[in-house]
Amino acid sequence: MTITETIPAITTPVNIKVDEDNFWPRANKYLMYTGVPPSPVVITKALGTRLYDSNGRQILDFTSGQMSSLLGHSHPEIVEVVRKYVGELDHLISNMITEPVVELAERLAHILPAGLDKSFFLNTGSETTEAAIKMAKCATGKFEVVAFSASYHGLTSGSGAATYSAGRRNGGPTMPGQLAFPAPYPYRSPFKKADGSYDWETELEFGWSMIDRQSVGSLAAFIMEPILSTGGILEPPKGYLTRMAEECKKRGMLLILDEAQTGVGRTGQMFAFENEGIVPDILCLSKTLGCGLPLASVTTTAEVEQGCREAKFLWLTTHLNDPLTAAVGCKVLEIVERDDVPQKAAERGQQLRAGLQKLQQKYWCIGDIRGRGLLQGVEIISDKETKAPGSDLGQAVSEVAMASGLSCNVVNLPGMGGVFRLAPPVTVTEDEIEEGLQILDMAFEQVLTKRGQMSAVA
Ligand code: PMP
Repeated sequence: MTITETIPAITTPVNIKVDEDNFWPRANKYLMYTGVPPSPVVITKALGTRLYDSNGRQILDFTSGQMSSLLGHSHPEIVEVVRKYVGELDHLISNMITEPVVELAERLAHILPAGLDKSFFLNTGSETTEAAIKMAKCATGKFEVVAFSASYHGLTSGSGAATYSAGRRNGGPTMPGQLAFPAPYPYRSPFKKADGSYDWETELEFGWSMIDRQSVGSLAAFIMEPILSTGGILEPPKGYLTRMAEECKKRGMLLILDEAQTGVGRTGQMFAFENEGIVPDILCLSKTLGCGLPLASVTTTAEVEQGCREAKFLWLTTHLNDPLTAAVGCKVLEIVERDDVPQKAAERGQQLRAGLQKLQQKYWCIGDIRGRGLLQGVEIISDKETKAPGSDLGQAVSEVAMASGLSCNVVNLPGMGGVFRLAPPVTVTEDEIEEGLQILDMAFEQVLTKRGQMSAVA
């Protein structure tokens, strides 16, 4: 049975009406701009893999909302849990522990490697980063934190300090002790062997030599994503993470893995770290665990917990261990295990990647395709020979795709081409993947034809 066959159709969807003439003036007048240019489409319904605007136009959602709606929007079983818990057991003072909270911690312990069995629950990814960094400082008694140069771990003060890909300007000093490490970027790394292949070992050693020089002798932790998502879907080569874990250990540093986007099945395994068999000291989950609802987890070992206890670690936020969202997390994990979501992600991911590779043969501006499972990246270049970034080309393609019924996100960071991040819900069907690929195909053709660049400029 496929996942979609287990999802009963919702027959009475809510249809929220919008008067578009009135909508934008009000939005512009009353919403503060936070640096995120608003999408021109106004969505009034999100169901499964599709979004609908007020005219009933359908848009395939290949970003799973903000990379979160792992099982599609408004999955009926999750809707049922939310209805039940909001009606009976929504939120309590934070020291009251409830059954869904214990169940979620227990479920996580069962699917994680032995030893990682102490969890607590928060709301956002930034919050998990804040908590994990504070835990690492408490447990080690040290204060320096290392992150990749293309990292994204949130935008609150502490998490923003560990985020090198965006949002660092004009907020004043960041957290003392924060250090950057060259992100593994096989397509563009200046570290090359004589045969032109990526020399990640030399790059890694160079990175650590820089850390060791800069450190004041207080290295507490390295926080990393096993595949850097916002940083451009950078997948470290095989063996890289194992070496990184060893280097952390040598220096007495804790390894914090942030699987906000990669966790809970998306990459074809329950957790992306399983690909190398490394085990973090602290694991952060967020986005996918709540499937669109604000749920996040931090999990660690009894040893780190003990260190935190001794250092009088305190974490007490309003929604710590809320029953409603914990119940959602239990249902998400139940569905993910029951329907073998990692396997589904691997299968649909293979289909998506094969289709993207065909597009790469057809369109010279697709420089690189990378990622795992249903987290695929497509890097757009403007010059085939020099690999010069093609950010505005990527943006133009994504705008045509959106106008044609496909929502996909392009990240534009300095020094890299625009990178499409394709991460549809794992409930996506074979036909929907084909439909998305066809829209992309048409969008590339349209944009390149309009610019007179159907054949490579170089
Ligand atoms: N970690 C990672 C890996 C992320 O991708 C994000 C969000 N893009 C965050 C942390 C921050 O999560 P939030 O936006 O929920 O605070």
